[in-house]
Amino acid sequence: MSSLINHFNALQASILDSIRVLVERETTSREEARLNEIADVVARQLSDLSGKIELTPQPGYGTHLRARFDFGHDRSEPQVLVIGHLDTVWPVGTLDRMPFRLTPEGAAHGPGIFDMKSGIVIAVQALNAIRTLSLQTKRPVTLLLTCDEEIGSKTSRPLVEEEARRSAVALVLEPPITGGVVKTGRKGIGVFGIRAIGRAAHAGLDPRKGVNANVELSHQILRLAALNDHERGVTVSVGVMNGGTAINVVPAEASAKVDVRFWTPEDGERIVREIRGLQPVLADAQLEITGGINRPPMPRSENNIALYEHARDLAAELGFELRDAVVGGGSDGNFTAALGVPTLDGLGVDGAGAHADHEHIIVSDIPRRAALLTRLMQTL
Ligand SMILES: [Zn+2]
Repeated sequence: MSSLINHFNALQASILDSIRVLVERETTSREEARLNEIADVVARQLSDLSGKIELTPQPGYGTHLRARFDFGHDRSEPQVLVIGHLDTVWPVGTLDRMPFRLTPEGAAHGPGIFDMKSGIVIAVQALNAIRTLSLQTKRPVTLLLTCDEEIGSKTSRPLVEEEARRSAVALVLEPPITGGVVKTGRKGIGVFGIRAIGRAAHAGLDPRKGVNANVELSHQILRLAALNDHERGVTVSVGVMNGGTAINVVPAEASAKVDVRFWTPEDGERIVREIRGLQPVLADAQLEITGGINRPPMPRSENNIALYEHARDLAAELGFELRDAVVGGGSDGNFTAALGVPTLDGLGVDGAGAHADHEHIIVSDIPRRAALLTRLMQTL
């Protein structure tokens, strides 16, 4: 299989150019026009490879892109689904202080390069290789690129699930753990808002007429903290809290945002019940609780392990070691795995610094990752 690595090695400079083009299009989530444009750019590339393109515009968000490749198969056969996202967390203008750049050590830097514009490019390149080298596949392949993954996949989830139901496997282009480690399991995620409502009063003149919403919220935050169970991998973190208006006013309102992570659906449901069931502690205080589970867990199932082992064997044929791990962060792989579809995540290019200023990829990893993705599309 080293011929496939050689193929991508020969293309490395042009692949890097393609990555640069995508990185230099800033595509913050909810930047609708920018996300429409990048979907068009990638759609043209995929259309040139004879992909059947479906664009699904989402007002206020951007456009989801599906490209179907039959490769001589009946499109109704269970497909290989490859999933990525076009949006990034970086605000427009980040390029000014973090431009695309190559380092002497062989890294390529830029906002969104690791998460996940390089992943999108290697997927296009893998499809290109199958076409130009006339490689065989066992199934049709669909590439789904969404525009709202970084903000919870609200509008893309139905598409991800619709495609997952037609799929034999799902391959997710998210970045690997540094070292090229793929992801076979992810925690589920819940997001909650807690609003404590008290009663305003003058802190000096009428303190006893007030109901202090900050105190009420504080009681609730301690209860939430007590739900942490690190042994079971259940975490409940109050990430944001706000309360009060002025120092001499008993606050009428306080609020918090809560991040919840868990390994099993049962733990997720239990935590939802606990949080939804929170009761006020202070007399005359009220609580409003919103939110729920946002992504179901992706357990490291037999299915996922078998898929990983297949990928590991392909990587060994290509001359590199592929390790796996489970992580606390979520992706669209959570949705495919929850439907029982074998899912392998973290198939993007090796690097580091997702969502951080040092975000980069390792340029020398591009050919082998592209080769691995090609072999997965061929053999699954
Ligand atoms: Zn991502």
